[in-house]
Amino acid sequence: MHVQADWKRDRILGIPVQQRVQRFLEAIEAHRDLNCFAEVFEQSAMKRAAELDNALAAGRQPGRLTGMVIAIKDNILYKDHLCTASSKILQNFRAPYTATALQRLLDEGVVVIGRTSCDEFAMGSSNETSYYGPVRNPLAPECVPGGSSGGSAAAVAAGLCDAALGSDTGGSIRQPSAFCGIWGLKPGYGAVSRYGLIAYGSSFDQIGPMTANAEDAATLMEVMAGPDPRDATSDAEYHFGKMRNVPVSNLRIGYYPEILNSPDVGETVRNAYQRILDKAREAGAHLVSLSFPIREHLVPMYYVLSTAEASSNLARYDGVRYGYRAAGASSMEEMLVRTRTEGFGQEVRRRILLGTFVLSSGYYEAYYGKAQKARALLREMVDKQLSETDILLLPTTPDLPFRFGERSEDPVKMYLEDQFTVMANLSGHPALSFPVVSGHTFPVCGMQIIGPFRSEAFLLSVASQLSGF
Ligand code: GLN
Repeated sequence: MHVQADWKRDRILGIPVQQRVQRFLEAIEAHRDLNCFAEVFEQSAMKRAAELDNALAAGRQPGRLTGMVIAIKDNILYKDHLCTASSKILQNFRAPYTATALQRLLDEGVVVIGRTSCDEFAMGSSNETSYYGPVRNPLAPECVPGGSSGGSAAAVAAGLCDAALGSDTGGSIRQPSAFCGIWGLKPGYGAVSRYGLIAYGSSFDQIGPMTANAEDAATLMEVMAGPDPRDATSDAEYHFGKMRNVPVSNLRIGYYPEILNSPDVGETVRNAYQRILDKAREAGAHLVSLSFPIREHLVPMYYVLSTAEASSNLARYDGVRYGYRAAGASSMEEMLVRTRTEGFGQEVRRRILLGTFVLSSGYYEAYYGKAQKARALLREMVDKQLSETDILLLPTTPDLPFRFGERSEDPVKMYLEDQFTVMANLSGHPALSFPVVSGHTFPVCGMQIIGPFRSEAFLLSVASQLSGF
């Protein structure tokens, strides 16, 4: 499961950045059927590549990432480019500034080739709610790529860019990475600035790398992560550190036997999980059997809290200040109601309603207050498990990629897709999805490791070993 980082090799060979961008543009054109991109930034990408080539020719010191071509999820602001959260309500919204995480990458020489389609406002697990239509999974075109960062995952998996940025509120980096066979890291809360990320659930959201290998994820994190005065929740002490060689033989790996025995977890996923655990044990790791913390409450907690935050964050889309406005309304109220009814898709409206309900005065304590208390408890439980182990290992998803339409009619079924990913967003810990060979009906399967805060480099090091098992 190790893919050579082409951008590094091309740089050593002196391949012009323009030639690289051109190659990717051709690949994107050849894979239009995947529908990964909401928009390809052909002109600005070529212009930037020419600038980088000129700088290199003039002997200027290249940035650490010069020549790396990335795609960004359609909820990360890139100055003067459209950014719509794949929603009709933002269809004409042009970013007035660049997100901090992206700016740091640009300062080191990346080229942004386009913005990738996602579930509307990052709400979903299949990319089927995007205003731009569904994205296909490059490994199985009849299946979804996962979501909400499905366009980013599919673009990396199909070789349409070197790497991509996604955002993860409840699994949106990890789940599509698992479905498309790539690496996806949700940094610990506060590790990467959220400034310039269109908000979904502000106490959950994190921008993170989606890559073909562990090293690229580490390289992107090294540049992107760290405190930002523009995001008050960013970790002032954060330092990414370095990947190092971690022998699995010295590790205490926490795992959840109930997943191995659970009938609602697919057989291929269970087998892959069992195999990784067996191999880790053979390699000398100490396996620690744990019970899954408040498992049946995690998805409900996540959907109470994230929709509450979403209902507040999305109140700003009122037709007055941003994007779409319904035409021909005869009163302020009618304009507001029609703008939001016409501008938001069904899933987003459902979540605004749910979030507004759980925050309403009569129900606040029963739902929102209770979920907040449970969240604090969960964080303690995860911390405790991590004090007895070095990492927690579990599958990223309960099953393999599903077919289009299979879950979209039943929101609860779709929400259960997040049952293994939301824990790390609720607790805030960093979590990584990495591909392992599944050896069954589907070529790859995503495994997930969770570690203590600020352990991202360590997680990538450990997974580099485990992914070879
Ligand atoms: N599938 C989850 C949801 O729909 C996660 C989304 C995300 O991480 N942005 O909320």
